[in-house]
Amino acid sequence: MLINFTSDVYIAFDCYNYIMRRLLVVVSFFLIACQAVSSAAPVLLATSPASPPATPTITAEPTFTSQPTAVRAAPAPGEFIVQLHPDGPLFIGDRVSFEVISTEEIELEESNVAIRVEGHALDELSTAEFGGFGIGGRMQATFSWVWDTSELQAGEYQVEFSVQPDDLTWTETVHLLPAEHVPDPEPHARWSMANIECCTVNYITGTRAARDLEVVLDLAEMQSENAIRRMGIDFGEPIPITIVPRVVGHGGFASNEIYISYLDENYAGNDLAQVLHHEMIHILDRRLGGELRPSLLVEGLAVYLSNGHFKKEPLLSRAAVLLDLGWYLPLNQLADAFYTSQHEIGYLEGAALVQYMVERFGWEAFNDFYRDIHPHPSEKQSSAIDVSLRDHFGLSLEQLEVDFKGRLRRQHIIPDMVDDVRLTITYYDTVRRYQQLLDPSAFFLTAWLPDGEQMREREIVADFLRRPSTEENLDIENLLVKVDRDLRAGNYTQGQKTIHQINRRLDLLEEQIVLRAD
Ligand SMILES: [Zn+2]
Repeated sequence: MLINFTSDVYIAFDCYNYIMRRLLVVVSFFLIACQAVSSAAPVLLATSPASPPATPTITAEPTFTSQPTAVRAAPAPGEFIVQLHPDGPLFIGDRVSFEVISTEEIELEESNVAIRVEGHALDELSTAEFGGFGIGGRMQATFSWVWDTSELQAGEYQVEFSVQPDDLTWTETVHLLPAEHVPDPEPHARWSMANIECCTVNYITGTRAARDLEVVLDLAEMQSENAIRRMGIDFGEPIPITIVPRVVGHGGFASNEIYISYLDENYAGNDLAQVLHHEMIHILDRRLGGELRPSLLVEGLAVYLSNGHFKKEPLLSRAAVLLDLGWYLPLNQLADAFYTSQHEIGYLEGAALVQYMVERFGWEAFNDFYRDIHPHPSEKQSSAIDVSLRDHFGLSLEQLEVDFKGRLRRQHIIPDMVDDVRLTITYYDTVRRYQQLLDPSAFFLTAWLPDGEQMREREIVADFLRRPSTEENLDIENLLVKVDRDLRAGNYTQGQKTIHQINRRLDLLEEQIVLRAD
C-alpha cells in the first residue's frame, strides 16, 4: 500500500510492481516533473540509475516536533527514527503505517523489525525487513496500513519496536484522538471516478478536484490529444489518473497510471495542464519501448514535448543561461546521477539536449537512436548513450556535448530570463528544503505515495488528505505560493526577497533541531 518511488522507476514502470513483503506493499512510480517515489523492489532496482543515489540527509524527527497536540512521543534510540502515517495527529479509525528509518550507516540488510501494541489490535502485529526506500534508497523497514484503530478507544498507546537480530528494542507513545475530531473534509470524503475517452480520473470528494471536475476533465482530454499527436501512438486503453489533494514531490508521478497533485495553494507551484502532459508523454514513451531509456533522455523528452518543465519556456535559451550562471552540469555526470543532481538543471539540460538533437538529426533519427540504447557493462548510462551515439551518428557523447554547448552559446539571452532561471532553481531548492524539514512525506527522494488503486479498494483517503498543518507549515507554504506567483508574474525582486525570508526561517528551524539533538 505504500508507495515508493524509484528514480528510474519511471522507466521501469512495468507498473504495478507491487511487492508484498509480509504486510508491506510497495509500488514504484515514475516520477516526473516528477519525481519518482519509492522503494526497493528488486525489479525496480534493476532499472535504477547506474550510480547509487545519494542518501538524503535525515533531519531530526520533524514529524514529532511539528505536531504538538496529538503526537507520538519518545523517539527511537539514536539509530532510528519512526515516521507514522497519515501525517499529523492520528484519530480513531485510522489505518496507521510506520516507517522505521535508519539514521546511521549500519548494515541492516539482514535485519528486520517487529512492531506490536500489547493487548491491542496490533498485538503480534507484523515484521518487515529493511531495504532501500524511494529514489533516495533510504534504508528503512516499512509497514503499510498495518494498525487498524477502528475498534479502539481514544487515548495513549505504547507501540513496541524490536530490531532483530540486533536486539534493539524501544517503545513509542502514540496518541489516538477521538474520531469526531477528524478535520474537514475528511469525514465525508470518498473516492469518486469520472470516465472520459482518454482517462479514468479518480478524485476525492470535497476537494478542489471535485469542485473543478469539468475543468480537470477538459484539460485531461486536451492534453492527451496533444500528447498522442506528438508521440504518434495512443494509450491503448484509458489511463488511470489519481488526483492527489496534497503536494507530493514536485506534483506529478507516472507509472502505468498518473498521480497529480491538485489543490488550492499548491506550494510546489504546479500547472495542472503542464504536469498532465508531461506524465502522459512518459506513459506513451514507455509504450514505444527501448531496452534502456536513460533518465536524462526520458525526462528531457517529456519536457521537450511539453514545451517546458513547470511552464512553457524557451528551452535552448534557458539552458544557455545555465552556462552563464556557471550552473551547467557536464552531460556524463548528469546522465549517471540524474535524479540526485540538481533537479531543475537536470530537466532543463535534458530537454534542451533533446531539442538540439531533434533539430540537428530529425525526429525519426533521434527516435531510432533513443530506442536503441542498451545497458553498458559499466552500468553507466553515460556510456550506454555514448555507444548508441557512435552507432547512429558517429559521434561520442563528448563531441555531442561540445556541439551542444556551441549551440547554446549562440542563443540570445535577455536579463529577465537569467533572473527567471536562477530564481526558479532557487525556489524549487527552497521547496525541497521545506519538505525535508517540515513536510518530509512530500520529499521526492523518499516520498510517501500510497498506491491509488489499493487506497480506493480499502476506502482510505487520510494518507492523501492529511499533511503537516502547524502554523509554521502554513506560514511557509503561503510564502512559497507567493514566490511562485511572483516569479510567474515576473516580479523577480519580490520573489527573491521572499525566498530569502523563507530560508532564514528554515535556518532558524534547523538551528533549533540541532539544539534539541544536543
Ligand atoms: Zn518526468
